[in-house]
Amino acid sequence: MNTQRTVAVLGTGIMGAAMARNLLRAGHEVRVWNRDQAKTAPLADAGAQVASSPAEAVAGAEVVVTMLYDAAAVTEVIRQAAPGVSPGTAWVQSTTVGVHDVAALAALAEVVGLDLVEAPVSGTREPAEAGQLLVIAAGPEAVRERVAPVLDAIGARTVWTGEDPSAGSAARLKLVVNSWVIAASNAAGEILALAEALGVEPQQFFNLIDGGGLDLPFLRAKAGLVLEDRLEPASFAVDTSLKDARLILDAAREHGLRLDGAEASAARLARVASQGRSKQDMAAAYYASTQQDA
Ligand code: NAP
Repeated sequence: MNTQRTVAVLGTGIMGAAMARNLLRAGHEVRVWNRDQAKTAPLADAGAQVASSPAEAVAGAEVVVTMLYDAAAVTEVIRQAAPGVSPGTAWVQSTTVGVHDVAALAALAEVVGLDLVEAPVSGTREPAEAGQLLVIAAGPEAVRERVAPVLDAIGARTVWTGEDPSAGSAARLKLVVNSWVIAASNAAGEILALAEALGVEPQQFFNLIDGGGLDLPFLRAKAGLVLEDRLEPASFAVDTSLKDARLILDAAREHGLRLDGAEASAARLARVASQGRSKQDMAAAYYASTQQDA
């Protein structure tokens, strides 16, 4: 069975660039397009063809991958790509979007002639670079075989949540995952701030929980970024995680839920974004505790 694909990656930010590299490593033919073209230069060195427009990138591609900021960016870029699309091209949509956005993107796919697979990913810069993302995917059986080599290259595992991408099953699971990510990252910042204020060495806390049920690699990773002042380059930026926190709150409100923790997390991320930290890692929410007046 032929498993090599011609793949167009639209959006080569933190995640898209890492995904493109893994597609190249797996032997696929990769075209890349990014709004800020400077971000595609390292990928050209790695063997990708750089396109000057989304339409040029998708012309002749068997699979199109979108890894952009939000649903508005995806809509804009797919409209620009439309003149280059051959009907029946598969579209792996990995940008994190809201539950309702998925239906609108499915309608756009129909108009443009793309076979949509909704495929948000769990995992940040490092798993993306290692090709170890968890792909949460929804799409019809008929398209799965076409996109499987692409999903295999970017992820360690694909979890299929449904046949109909417009139903939003993958987006819903992705929002649940991110509510945990955002809560844990904010908790890491608050723990550090509290420990420091109370004169508790953070290491004392980590030694206490070491290897037990309260220990968590993600907590250590996020705390490490603050303690070692490694907030840039971000793995998951403040502005992107704030966008996701708002998607989670929208979905919760729609279902009559009140998520106080998520609201507080969003407020902390908004506060540090206004402190000029929007491009730092989400772990910078630590500063929402320590620099309250900024
Ligand atoms: P990023 O580095 O900020 O990349 C965002 C990308 O979107 C860039 O290529 C940016 O282009 C592009 N973009 C934004 N607005 C655009 C517009 N109006 N038109 C065209 N392009 C536009 O963010 P990221 O971390 O890679 O995240 C990408 C997506 O993956 C987001 O939906 C995020 O929620 C999701 N995600 C992120 C992580 C993570 O840990 N980082 C994990 C899972 C999922 P420019 O370079 O020109 O600005």
